[in-house]
Amino acid sequence: MSHQLSIAIAGAGLLGRLLAWRLLKLGHRVRLFDDGDFQHSRSAAHTAAAMISPLSEVVVSERSIYDMGVRSLGIWPGWIEELNVPGRPAVHYAAPGSVVVAHPADMAELEQFYSDLNFHLGADNNARWLDRRDLQAIEPDIADQFDRALYLPDEAYLDNRHLLDRLLEEIRALGGECVAHQPIDFSPDAKMGGQTLSGFDCIFDCRGVGARQSEKNLRGVRGEVLWVQTDEVQLHHPVRLMHPRYKLYIVPKPGNRFIIGATEIESQDRSPVSVQSMLELCSALYTLNPAFAEARILELDANLRPSYWHNLPMIEQKWVHPQFNNGEMQNIVRINGLYRHGYLLAPTVVEDVLARLTEFTQTH
Ligand SMILES: Cc1cc2nc3c(=O)[nH]c(=O)nc-3n(C[C@H](O)[C@H](O)[C@H](O)COP(=O)(O)OP(=O)(O)OC[C@H]3O[C@@H](n4cnc5c(N)ncnc54)[C@H](O)[C@@H]3O)c2cc1C
Repeated sequence: MSHQLSIAIAGAGLLGRLLAWRLLKLGHRVRLFDDGDFQHSRSAAHTAAAMISPLSEVVVSERSIYDMGVRSLGIWPGWIEELNVPGRPAVHYAAPGSVVVAHPADMAELEQFYSDLNFHLGADNNARWLDRRDLQAIEPDIADQFDRALYLPDEAYLDNRHLLDRLLEEIRALGGECVAHQPIDFSPDAKMGGQTLSGFDCIFDCRGVGARQSEKNLRGVRGEVLWVQTDEVQLHHPVRLMHPRYKLYIVPKPGNRFIIGATEIESQDRSPVSVQSMLELCSALYTLNPAFAEARILELDANLRPSYWHNLPMIEQKWVHPQFNNGEMQNIVRINGLYRHGYLLAPTVVEDVLARLTEFTQTH
């Protein structure tokens, strides 16, 4: 680093926290603002299932999402290792791959999924078919229900809520200042914690759907999830269920908990989960293994995925050198549109942003 910068970050969701942590580690001074409460976050990051699944996503996304996701898969283990220090409960991260299943009547859906995968990645991707015996070996608690399944290696998942808490601890331990209940807008006379915008060397706008007022191209895509707990069923992989009307997944979490999600609805509505969605989520769970009928419902949650029209992330950089701005440095970098790929893409996006910042500070 050429010199220490004074940095403000608006939004303490996934991007805001990861960025604050990495910037502090580089020796910068960071103030992190959120309009809500850090403990009971309203971020999409808090609601998410936190799968890191480039293969599954390439079927419904652009190839660039896959490439960035593969890069993130290479970054996450090192970051988790840095966070998992002795004396602190370890953030759960696992990369066992995923299992994709369909009931016999819906097998065409699974075959189409496999064709799409081959179309996007070529036939030499590492996905492979499992018969009932193979499935029995790796995921015995669902093997009775399915004749065939698809195994996708190189996919991971993590305990996102623990990660978010741990990042906050680390940000504070590194001297970062966290300011809650501070809605930030970027009007000309805006202030961040009593300081004008030009008082910072650089500002990162990581407000997710909270930036919608100022970013007309941004929309929220509603997603609903269900959390349950049971000792009756064990899963060792995220499992995706192909179905003609909905594509759902179930992800195991520490403490015999499972998250089942997620609906995908073009709506800005953040109100509680609908009865219809609840029925779909519960029935998917029950068809995976009827023993889930005795699971206890822990939570229902709904949130909005921050998305642009193309469902791709964008880093919009307005770095103005003081020479061209009446002697004031005003660098605002907007990072948004992670859509349903926050955990899949955030490490890559954050590293790209840091590389650009380093380049800027070295050349000015
Ligand atoms: C149901 C669901 C399931 C998902 N599952 C996955 C998954 O399995 N894998 C995956 O990769 N991604 C998943 N995602 C997507 C992922 O959660 C998002 O892409 C990611 O959280 C976006 O990160 P972000 O930091 O941009 O926004 P957020 O995480 O939403 O954070 C934005 C923060 O900004 C704050 N804020 C808003 N307005 C203001 C303001 N005016 N001033 C100050 N602060 C403000 C908010 O309080 C919030 O804390 C899922 C999302 C949902 C909803």
